[in-house]
Amino acid sequence: QTIGEALADAAYRYVDRDALIVAHQGVRWSWGELLRRSDDVAAGLLALGLEPGDRVGIWAPNCAEWALTQFATARAGLVLVNINPAYRLSELEYALNKVQCKALVLAPALKSSDYLAIIKQLVPEVDTAAPGELQAENLPHLRWLIRLGEQATAGMLNFDELPGFARQESRDQLASIGSSLTPTDAINIQFTSGTTGHPKGATLTHSNILNNGFFVAEAIRLTEKDCLCIPVPLYHCFGMVMGNLGCLTHGATMVYPAESFDPLTVLETVQRERCTALYGVPTMFIAELDHPRFAEFDLSTLRTGIMAGSPCPVEVMKRVQSQMHMTEITIAYGMTETSPVSTQSAVDDPLDRRVSTVGRVQPHLEVQVLDESGSPVEHGATGELCTRGYSVMKGYWDDEERTGEAIDSDGWMHTGDLATMDAEGYVNIVGRKKDMVIRGGENIYPREVEEFLYRHPKVQDVQIIGVPDQRFGEELCAWIILRAGETATEGEIREFCKGQIAHFKVPRYIRFVDTFPMTITGKVQKFVMREQSIVDLG
Ligand code: ATP
Ligand code: MG
Repeated sequence: QTIGEALADAAYRYVDRDALIVAHQGVRWSWGELLRRSDDVAAGLLALGLEPGDRVGIWAPNCAEWALTQFATARAGLVLVNINPAYRLSELEYALNKVQCKALVLAPALKSSDYLAIIKQLVPEVDTAAPGELQAENLPHLRWLIRLGEQATAGMLNFDELPGFARQESRDQLASIGSSLTPTDAINIQFTSGTTGHPKGATLTHSNILNNGFFVAEAIRLTEKDCLCIPVPLYHCFGMVMGNLGCLTHGATMVYPAESFDPLTVLETVQRERCTALYGVPTMFIAELDHPRFAEFDLSTLRTGIMAGSPCPVEVMKRVQSQMHMTEITIAYGMTETSPVSTQSAVDDPLDRRVSTVGRVQPHLEVQVLDESGSPVEHGATGELCTRGYSVMKGYWDDEERTGEAIDSDGWMHTGDLATMDAEGYVNIVGRKKDMVIRGGENIYPREVEEFLYRHPKVQDVQIIGVPDQRFGEELCAWIILRAGETATEGEIREFCKGQIAHFKVPRYIRFVDTFPMTITGKVQKFVMREQSIVDLG
């Protein structure tokens, strides 16, 4: 099946059931309406002269039009390119050129003047040229700028005008494209989070992401009676695949609480829409649980959800189960390059496994843990996790060299993550290869020390990084966010560690901070912390 066929299916099976709720935009569309609106937009895009395979970028925070663009491009065979809404001039220019976008859908939602100023710098003729005749020197492929909200300047189209461009001809064209697309066609380019450096553009097919959305939702037993709150960014696979395509394949309702993550709005939305499922990265769940007004909200409709994206502390999993009623929450592990999920815990896994591991391999996929020389390690030993199967991307867009480094000749995707697997197949993510700290010859996995420090009653969040050291090669540095109103000393934290963890795991440097440097997907950028710590430590 293609994504377009799956949408037609959902519109047939769940025709009047809610597909999408975006309260702040006044949107409540059924599956039938979502299909109709998507086809209107799709036909409009084709009427502009775009053709199957052409790349269409979307640079917007979460909103109803994001989903419309996702489904419209899928119906029309256009390759959707997810562009991080946090990108600014140079990153935007890089991404658009990298994949040769012909059109860009943009939302001046977060900081409208900012967006426009950037566009005017990139495409100076936007004030004078007619739409479709843009010829920016630095963006030679870009023809169309399609703006959400009111039209700002002459050279841009308004998203709401698109359906009006659709003629019978483009509708006929849409129908014939629909029957010619195949599941192995590329339909989406997603950039990785940029947690460890420059984001990479992964080329994904219908089969990659539609199947993954299906199996992710199977694991949490999503049905058409469910209502899923999606506070994670749509620009990332967590939102657009695990969220949107998970709902699409099961007829569940997608609910977007806000343009970008805000813990209070999530709590309000879950209560108002009586959501049964909720997604988030660990930092989001922490922010919700620790919100001063948390206790005011009735979250008793929640049943399940997924925590993923970075290491999920056991303490946080337990609190989500007991305080947010998500007794069936699971942990998923994956990466953009594998559509994303390759392992996930299951609702019927024993509780300790469900909160402490990333579960077992998904159906129709293989995982293995390899040592430095490329042979499988024994159960329980640490090595690099590798994934093979339907979910592995086609490759990094226009980058054969990096694709070759990531995917070997047998089709295994080398994830760069260190993991262990037990005899029953449960996988534990130990950390990223790049984040492992080697101090005086000892391998230290930051995750282990972080888990330990989470148990300190004053610690709200903690990250461990390695910083260069003359004597030991590297030393541990802890960045700690204390709970609201708490104070603590470095000595107090070290005292807590004493006798509880090996002496070399006790952080040499401890700093108390208010926030961590983060990607918009809510992931802590340790490479930025390392740079800052090195500067600060001289
Ligand atoms: P970049 O590749 O640009 O540095 P990134 O790897 O964070 O960024 P993503 O593809 O969004 O980009 O994230 C995938 C990574 O997130 C995985 O490789 C892994 O390190 C981490 N991750 C995902 N899920 C989990 C999980 N449940 N537990 C631990 N780590 C996880
Ligand atoms: Mg990565």
